[in-house]
Amino acid sequence: MPAPLMTIATGTDVPARADAVVIGGGIVGTSAAYYLARSGLNVVLLEKGRIGAEQSSRNWGWCRQQNRDARELPMATKSLELWDRLAAEIGEDAGFRRCGLTYLSDSGSEIEGWAKWRDFAITQGVRTFMLSPQEAAERGRATGKAWKGGVFSQDDGIADPARAAPVLALGVMKYGGVVLQECAVRGVELSAGRVSGVVTEKGMIATSQVVVAGGAWASSFCHQLGIGMPQASTRSTILSIGPGAAGDIPPALHTKDVSVTARGDGGWTLAVSGRAQLDPTPQNIRYAKAFLPMFARRWGNLSVGSLQGWGWGHESRRIWKLDRPTPMERARILDPRPNRAVAEDTLARARKLLPGLSANPMQATWAGYIDSTPDGVPVIGTVDHIPGFMIAAGFSGHGFGIGPGAGLLVAQMLTGQATFVDPAHYKLERFSKMSWGKVSEF
Ligand SMILES: Cc1cc2nc3c(=O)[nH]c(=O)nc-3n(C[C@H](O)[C@H](O)[C@H](O)COP(=O)(O)OP(=O)(O)OC[C@H]3O[C@@H](n4cnc5c(N)ncnc54)[C@H](O)[C@@H]3O)c2cc1C
Repeated sequence: MPAPLMTIATGTDVPARADAVVIGGGIVGTSAAYYLARSGLNVVLLEKGRIGAEQSSRNWGWCRQQNRDARELPMATKSLELWDRLAAEIGEDAGFRRCGLTYLSDSGSEIEGWAKWRDFAITQGVRTFMLSPQEAAERGRATGKAWKGGVFSQDDGIADPARAAPVLALGVMKYGGVVLQECAVRGVELSAGRVSGVVTEKGMIATSQVVVAGGAWASSFCHQLGIGMPQASTRSTILSIGPGAAGDIPPALHTKDVSVTARGDGGWTLAVSGRAQLDPTPQNIRYAKAFLPMFARRWGNLSVGSLQGWGWGHESRRIWKLDRPTPMERARILDPRPNRAVAEDTLARARKLLPGLSANPMQATWAGYIDSTPDGVPVIGTVDHIPGFMIAAGFSGHGFGIGPGAGLLVAQMLTGQATFVDPAHYKLERFSKMSWGKVSEF
């Protein structure tokens, strides 16, 4: 059974022209289109499958500032403000609530790392509280065990991955934008070196501004235009259990053994943080050197996966013909097979740590590819040599929470407004300066 997802009805007619076209209906693309529509632009959002059906509905739903990189923290903080307002603005609830995130640990070095981050966070006006062993035991009472310490990030929260991107897409339409599903963009047309339109499987749209928010497909899409975007995806397995007597479990709890998140339907999402599989693909091989440091750091939690990543085609290095179906039309929804052993182990860990979950029936297991850049910070911005072409992808394991902020930044940049954060942090060109695993194709 796949991850649950709200279904929405969208348009069917491909408009002849638009002020801006957003490619990809995940949390980033829907947010970008939403804030562009709210800025008064005539925007078209194109999704090859269903809105939210890839990473954006397959995640835990955490919206966090906790432990974020200094470059991403302002975006996380802004996003929380935006999440707060969405339900009232759109008239549909994305399930966001500021329930706080609880982290518990038995490792002195892990707790030290969190304390260091807390010291930095305070300088940025972010509230997060270190927990003493007594406080950790009290917040983690459902585990029935002692802890060395922990963190409670009280301003952070969770939203419902099954609803968030669809609700934002409803918001796009409410503010006058057009949303199309089952409409893959095959490529971008250039005139005199700048964007002049997009070629979809259902016809052309003339436009001078394109935003590629294609998640795990972004790099292969950029490759069609000779743009090198270093991107790699890992496959993560996750499961949900149904409602039942769960005891006093915090709504969002992280431990090194397992993390659990309360779902909107009363059930729980279970996963092991950082555990993933790396499926070999042409793109992974192409950018292997750039990703070595990141994968080396994660080595204990990463294992080599299967050739299914090759088969899906999202990390192909082929050049597509624009008058023929592309891999995106063959894989309307990137729905990788979960790893059964990981799912069983995750369930066993959860039941051991939280005996209150033992009776909750297993509901569903699924997997998702998490796309990342070599430094774990997204690419958001224009590409210097192609005016009108913007990328917003590579969000690692944090794109759901910061999606609204990323979308707002895209809209502010595209419409020439003042931006709430310095966009220089997110430029693609930063990878051309990497000393290790330099990426040369720019
Ligand atoms: C198991 C798991 C747990 C996670 N947990 C969290 C978490 O707790 N908190 C958090 O913040 N983040 C989390 N993440 C990461 C988060 O889900 C992603 O960073 C985020 O959803 C990325 O959003 P996106 O819009 O960039 O990509 P996606 O959601 O993948 O959307 C991209 C969309 O673009 C479409 N598309 C691509 N190419 C084309 C094309 N040419 N034409 C038309 N459509 C196209 C695709 O069909 C897809 O729908 C997790 C991810 C996973 C898989």
